[in-house]
Amino acid sequence: MSKFSSFNFSGHKALVRVDFNVPLDADLNITDDTRMSATIPTIKKIIADGGSVILMSHFGRPKDGPTDKYSLKHLVKHLHELLNQAGSSSPSGYGGINVFFADDCLSEQAAITANLLKPGEVLLLENLRFYKEEEKGDVAFAEKLSKLGDVYVNDAFGTAHRAHASTAVIAQFFSAENRMFGLLMNSEVSSAEKVLHHSEKPFTAIIGGAKVSDKILIIENLLERATDIIIGGGMAYTFIKAKGGKIGNSLCENDRLDVALSILAKATEKGVSIHLPENSVCADKFAADANTQVTMSDAIPDGWMGLDIGPKAVGVFSEVIRNSKTILWNGPMGVFEMEKFQNGTKSIAMAVAEATTNGAFSLVGGGDSVAAVNQFNLADKVSYVSTGGGAMLEYFEGKVLPGIAAIKD
Ligand code: AMP
Repeated sequence: MSKFSSFNFSGHKALVRVDFNVPLDADLNITDDTRMSATIPTIKKIIADGGSVILMSHFGRPKDGPTDKYSLKHLVKHLHELLNQAGSSSPSGYGGINVFFADDCLSEQAAITANLLKPGEVLLLENLRFYKEEEKGDVAFAEKLSKLGDVYVNDAFGTAHRAHASTAVIAQFFSAENRMFGLLMNSEVSSAEKVLHHSEKPFTAIIGGAKVSDKILIIENLLERATDIIIGGGMAYTFIKAKGGKIGNSLCENDRLDVALSILAKATEKGVSIHLPENSVCADKFAADANTQVTMSDAIPDGWMGLDIGPKAVGVFSEVIRNSKTILWNGPMGVFEMEKFQNGTKSIAMAVAEATTNGAFSLVGGGDSVAAVNQFNLADKVSYVSTGGGAMLEYFEGKVLPGIAAIKD
């Protein structure tokens, strides 16, 4: 059982770092509340124990201090609804769960409200990034925030790769017993650790998306751990060109041809199989209504570009995935946003789901692959869908994430 699950929060004031950086439309309505709902179980456990909760988060990228559109006040109503949906529990004597808002995370009002919070009550602090000190990792700022609670819970995996005041620096002001990951962070960290450090073999990493340059470090780190690496999406064509293929107008980073060759050589040296798409669905323009044809990926005619993996590639990739015991997936296999080029990504999502049903552990992370499994309604058919794009990428690049290290040290 995790430290958080076994901790009794009764009588405690838990200062919980969450990632409430949700998208809003022009009328300030939340368009996707995944990040908020993902952390509700953490808040509810503290409340059910008889503790009170002080939530702190960043919201957008305010440049010059307080700005209305970046105010967390726009989220209070929805937070209240999420906490008071059917099935919510609060200590006996409390009807619904009260949610208070402090319009400055360091004001006297914030300190007084935090101090007066009763068990079962929640206080949301205003956007931490209204203070420059947050992103600078300012120690004095972190210390002031730390005074608002007596236990520190980090449930913000999405910002775990940042050494900010509230995500990492603050942890030093709590004893080792009184700082811990929340339920969301714990699932993220244990799923990622399982894949990176305790993977059952065969371990297949599926890496896609537009650019090789964004994924070099992750591929290099995975060469030490995976048995198979599937490379799809736009980035595959840089590898195919580096090997002497003709890729027409497909996406290519000409300044990364050497890197691609060195990755292929390292893989051979280490006995890791790299799978590139044998054929591609090509288009005569980058558009939803383009004309298409399937060609070999190393013989794409001039004027055409590969926008999805072709049927042969789908067959080979699916077979590798079905034979895997551990699967990591980051990045789509093609321009899945357009119907004509979504078959590759959809087929790969289905193969990952099938392997998972047959006992493999699968972790999907990184914005676009998460969007893809959601689009194809397969999110509940994989083992874990990560909420942290950048954080997950850095974790799999082998970097130490400050938000994790601060709790573990
Ligand atoms: P990334 O953010 O690097 O993971 O890239 C995701 C984006 O790559 C998605 O918007 C895809 O549409 C795009 N993409 C995937 N395959 C291709 C391709 N063959 N050519 C151009 N763009 C692609």
